[in-house]
Parts: sequence; structure tokens; C-alpha cells
Amino acid sequence: MAGTILTLSHVTKRFGGLVAVDGMTFSVQRGSIQGLIGPNGSGKSTTLNLMSGALRLSEGEIILGNQKISGRSAHSIAKLGVARTFQLVRLLPSLTVAENIRVGGLYGHVRHSGKDADRAVDSILERVGLGGKGRMMPGQLTYIDTKRVELGRALIAQPRVLLLDEWLAGLNPTELEDGIELIQSLRDECEAIVIVEHVMEAIRSLCDSCVVMASGAKIAEGSVQDVLSAPQVIEAYLGGDDD
Ligand code: ADP
Ligand code: MG
Repeated sequence: MAGTILTLSHVTKRFGGLVAVDGMTFSVQRGSIQGLIGPNGSGKSTTLNLMSGALRLSEGEIILGNQKISGRSAHSIAKLGVARTFQLVRLLPSLTVAENIRVGGLYGHVRHSGKDADRAVDSILERVGLGGKGRMMPGQLTYIDTKRVELGRALIAQPRVLLLDEWLAGLNPTELEDGIELIQSLRDECEAIVIVEHVMEAIRSLCDSCVVMASGAKIAEGSVQDVLSAPQVIEAYLGGDDD
């Protein structure tokens, strides 16, 4: 079904005097992978945190399908179908890989328990490329495998919208190829995917459209090719002091 799945209207987040997100307005189309890019500190993670309910908006509104989700708790937003991975991987170190993934099935959109959860965990382990590693501890995993666990924890709840915060960051070139392929393969499993990413190769190969942020505000939006050649985007990247 075509149309809009997620809409942000005039979304603003202030931390004291700092405006981290400044009147962001954009929509995510059903069936799409939408990129959210911009220099470090431009407000990308904060925007994802507002979408997932980890942070409350200062102003504005976020709509999922036909429901307003801004103002709700993170738990309630997860139940309604928004799942995310964190920029810094957050696994529970004393739980096995399978248990870490199972945790995602307790709180999300589609919840699993008992035997049903076992089956769901097994299928997710295979899905994210962790077949046979369910009994390992997070500390024994390679970096990409810890990222796969995070992804599995988000996917087990069968989210409507999946938010990935630099999920591909820090991967070596071979892992990056595998990672891009894995995200590409998730396209049909969620209604939409929003990715915050610095790796331009990933943005180019995955995203149908892209929103560019600088200093909390949207400075460009459209096809990846168009936004990457827009003068204000080039300026934001080259003029920044950290990219
Ligand atoms: P990005 O993900 O694009 O690198 P962030 O959204 O993490 O940017 O940060 C945007 C701005 O908001 C930065 O200046 C950052 O220091 C600030 N910021 C982010 N989170 C907080 C917070 N919890 N408290 C205060 N300032 C924050
Ligand atoms: Mg960030």
C-alpha cells in the first residue's frame, strides 16, 4: 500500500538553550528506505530519539499511520510499531545472544512468549546471520555480530517502522557489503526503514530518498543523487569541522 507511514511536523527539541532539532518536517513513504544524513551534531540521533519516544518533543507532532505517537512513552510507541537500534550497541552482557534477542520480543509491536518466543528467536537468529550463535555471550562476538544482535532484537517485534542509527558504522569493507545486503533484504519486512548513516556508499545503494540536516534543521530533501549534489549540502559537509 502506497502513501505515508510516518510524518514529522515542525518537530523541535531543545536542551536548555541548545536547539538540537529545529522545526523538522518530513514524511516517510510506505515501502521506502529513507536516509537521514548530516554532519556530526546536526541532530540526527536526537530526531530518532524523538521518533522512538526516548526523548519528548519540545514542539511539533509525529504521526505513525493515522495515530499521533509524539507525547506517548517509548514503551507505547514500541507497541505501536516503531523499533530502533542504537548508535552505540547496547546489549545485556550477562544474557546470551538468543536471550538478548528474546528481550525485544517482550516489549514490541508483536509480542512473543514461551515456545512461540523460542521459535521466533531461532528464526531471527537465522534471519540476521547469527545461526548457531544463540548460546554465545555478547562478549564473545565480533563487532558486526553484536550489531546483528541489536538488529535482531528490533526485528523480533515485527516493527512497522525500523530506525537504524549508524548501524553500518565501524564495519570493515567486507562486513559493510554484508551489512548493506542484510538491510536491503529487510525492505519487505517493515513498512519503512529510516537509516541515519555516514557511510555514503550505503546511503547511495539503500535509500530511495534522503533528508539532510545541519544544525538541527532540514537543509535538503529528495533523491540521494539530488541532495548530495545540492550546494547547501556540500557546504554543510565541507564547512563542518568534524566530517
Ligand atoms: P547527530 O546524531 O547528528 O550527530 P545528535 O542528535 O546526537 O547529533 O546531537 C545534536 C545536538 O544535540 C548536539 O549538539 C548534541 O551535543 C546535543 N545533544 C544531544 N543529546 C543531548 C542531551 N541529552 N542533552 C544535551 N544536549 C544533547
Ligand atoms: Mg548520532
